[in-house]
Amino acid sequence: MGCPGAGKGTQSAKLKETLNLKHISTGDVLRAQMAAGTELGKQVAALINQGNLVPDGLMISMLQNIISTTDQGVILDGFPRTVAQAQALDDMMKRLGRQISAVVMIDLPQEEVVKRLSSRRLCKKCGKPAATATQAACECGGELYVRGDDAPQSVKHRLEVYRLQTLPVKEYYQHSGKYVEINGNQTPDQVFEDICNVLKKVK
Ligand code: AMP
Repeated sequence: MGCPGAGKGTQSAKLKETLNLKHISTGDVLRAQMAAGTELGKQVAALINQGNLVPDGLMISMLQNIISTTDQGVILDGFPRTVAQAQALDDMMKRLGRQISAVVMIDLPQEEVVKRLSSRRLCKKCGKPAATATQAACECGGELYVRGDDAPQSVKHRLEVYRLQTLPVKEYYQHSGKYVEINGNQTPDQVFEDICNVLKKVK
């Protein structure tokens, strides 16, 4: 968990390698649908570009389809984003005989979020953010682009949506014994180290 720009994608990509987990980013799945011009992609494009959430029913069935086709451990990046999604995830886990090991919240002050998102450029090929503001292409050779929903107006709205719809998910998990908070206002390597340290304690 974490607000837009907290580093969920960056940390998930690192954890996936280290812990041999499947990384499911619901945002990436939706952007791939948009890029491919599918019916689902067309349906969600305006919502995403304006910084709104995609309806719960759509997201829950999308996640259910992905998760039920793998026995591998998964990192959920960007799901659940509402309390209804968190409840549906609990039901899904029960049905599949699986469980949530940890809920990791990457915490970041709002000023830092705005700063990060307004300068963020991502790679079209590997999805990673550019390491510097001046590089012309990603290290992997992929083209860099600015996400449509990183435009200043959308960022402002996404933060409001986060506060109203996603922060209640924190309360949902806070007393579950699985919830941990990490300081996201550090270098990616430091954040990663903190996450690894808390995950070592998870059963
Ligand atoms: P992200 O890449 O996680 O920042 O997601 C980008 C956008 O995809 C979000 O701003 C939402 O519009 C949509 N999205 C991703 N995950 C969800 C979700 N779990 N529920 C609703 N909308 C989502």
